[in-house]
Amino acid sequence: MTQRTTRGILTRLQEGVVIGGEGYVFELERRGYIKAGPYVPEVILDFPEAVRELHREFLRAGCEVMVALTYYAHREKLRDVGRENDLEQMNRQAVRLANEVAREGDALIAGNICNTWSYDPNNPESSGKVVRAQYEEQLGWAVEEGIDFVIAETNDYLGEALIGLDVIKKLGLPAMITLASVQPEQTRDGYDYVEACKILADHGADIVGLNCDRGPATMLPIIEKVRAAVPCYVAAQPVPYKTHSHAPTFESLELENGTRAFPLALEPFLHNRFEMADFARQAQALGVNYIGICCGGSPHYVRAMAEALGRTAPASKYSPAMELHPMLGTQVEAKDEVFLTDWKA
Ligand SMILES: [Zn+2]
Repeated sequence: MTQRTTRGILTRLQEGVVIGGEGYVFELERRGYIKAGPYVPEVILDFPEAVRELHREFLRAGCEVMVALTYYAHREKLRDVGRENDLEQMNRQAVRLANEVAREGDALIAGNICNTWSYDPNNPESSGKVVRAQYEEQLGWAVEEGIDFVIAETNDYLGEALIGLDVIKKLGLPAMITLASVQPEQTRDGYDYVEACKILADHGADIVGLNCDRGPATMLPIIEKVRAAVPCYVAAQPVPYKTHSHAPTFESLELENGTRAFPLALEPFLHNRFEMADFARQAQALGVNYIGICCGGSPHYVRAMAEALGRTAPASKYSPAMELHPMLGTQVEAKDEVFLTDWKA
């Protein structure tokens, strides 16, 4: 067991790249603990050991941040599944589980808020109050249970992201604000993604960028522009799927028969671990500071990405040694060269 140090997120970012890892909701759905559709993390109360185990697998893979599984654990979503009475307990327990496992290594604990589905850009004043109340409630509990910083993610609206940022700053915590990028160029309230990141940085966000929706090929070109536009730290957490110019998001990927692959039939589009390792290297070369993965992510990707960035993770003890494979051992080539991808192609 490693002793947890007191190095906070900003110190770590100053020293080098921080490796993140998310996609807990997708992974726990695949494992049979979360219902696809509502995607409410009921697993926190129903099977806490499953959450602990997944945190532990990401930690062993080299992830430096345990993100509390409070994604969609807000009032609006819990009402959908008839569990709004569990709201406080679910939020507190999620932070506790992240804390427990973070202390098994040297990881930080991030509180987590996301798009609420309550924000209405045509009525930003009154809908904004509802959003603010949800964030204050969730993060109030998170702070009491113990977090190091907050990740506000998959923000569809700049307006909603700014509310999250304000709530985090009033709590005196570092803020990482990342946007969803479902639309081709702009947030749903009409801001170019790069401009939206710049506005967030101007309002005091410590880390800005994108998470979810896009694979490396369609996320990196936007991230490169964000990097050039903001003075603060930049985050990129793509999904490990082969998005491309005609289907820039995983929501737009189609199976051969023309049906939508999102969210339950995405397997044919998965990147392999070498390609995600290559993403990590290219993101680092672009000057991205927080490099991770989102929906579809799992520990083997994080380990490959961590190793590509020169780290040795606890799970590196069991990293491939294909030269010892009885059949393939004599045919092994330098794996990193074999899979190098030109993301801009
Ligand atoms: Zn995601």
